[in-house]
Amino acid sequence: MTEDDERWMRLAIEVARSKGSDPADAPLGSVIVRDGRVIAAERNQTEELPDATAHAEMMAIRRGCEASGELELRGATLYSTLQPCGMCTMASIWSKVGRVVYGAGREDVHPMYFEAKHIDTLSFIADAYREDIVIEGGCLRDECASLYYPPDADLSFEEQANL
Ligand SMILES: [Zn+2]
Repeated sequence: MTEDDERWMRLAIEVARSKGSDPADAPLGSVIVRDGRVIAAERNQTEELPDATAHAEMMAIRRGCEASGELELRGATLYSTLQPCGMCTMASIWSKVGRVVYGAGREDVHPMYFEAKHIDTLSFIADAYREDIVIEGGCLRDECASLYYPPDADLSFEEQANL
């Protein structure tokens, strides 16, 4: 993890916060950087579109491909404020990004943000059919985790039904 990583993660946090600071509104941000340049910066847009697949990382991959006019984002790094879910991890593999860097991990936030069944994105990447992709977590972990409900938050079912 480098200073540049922290700089891009700060941008991802800013993008996430553009949605407000209510942890119920899924303030997730994702930024894709290639050659020191931002090619996409998106937040979760599932409710607004509405689109169940409009996670921040998915939106960033779509915008990144549009912006570069390329199907593959080789050499790019995808930053996400929260550990990517199974769908976004797979999308990262398909998009050919070289590196995924996330802030808060599963253990840092309330389980409501993840699938009911545990999909371990780390072993998912390790078992991927690509040798040229790495995933690293914990970049600005505390700042990213502060966007979300803490692991032990006492939430009603309705409060948890947003995602
Ligand atoms: Zn996702």
